[in-house]
Amino acid sequence: MSGKVSKNNVVGFTYTLQDSNGVLLDQSEDEALEYLQGHQNIVPGLESALEGLSVGDKQVVVVLPEEGYGLWEQDLIQPFPRDAFPDDLELYVGLELETESGHGPIVLRVQEIQEDQVMMDANHPLAGETLHFSVEIKSVRPATPEEIEHGHVHSKGHHHH
Ligand SMILES: [Zn+2]
Repeated sequence: MSGKVSKNNVVGFTYTLQDSNGVLLDQSEDEALEYLQGHQNIVPGLESALEGLSVGDKQVVVVLPEEGYGLWEQDLIQPFPRDAFPDDLELYVGLELETESGHGPIVLRVQEIQEDQVMMDANHPLAGETLHFSVEIKSVRPATPEEIEHGHVHSKGHHHH
């Protein structure tokens, strides 16, 4: 079954992701990545660019930060007191720690270690980046009612919630 990419279809695609300098940031595994179109499973700029494509289509998609992982915001760098961290935790710049926020878990990165406080950066690692995707559509199928209700793909056998 291969229609066009449209809302409530499960779309399988392979991709590479480069930054504006052509540095490879990410790429799909051997198997195509599946997502549910129209449910914000992927960044908005990519989702809207894939709308209407068919299996076999290849597309280069340039996504600005506003339509990607957002702009880099100074306000998202916040100080935490040193004693907020466990004694046995070895802190280093770039260390990523997951913490609970009011909106679910978020990842904070150690940006700078000072004498009695640690600056933690909550920006997405790709915030501020213009994303250069090169994608190929591998499969399109209608989602099941359960997938549409949940807003994500259930791959064979297991779904993670
Ligand atoms: Zn589910």
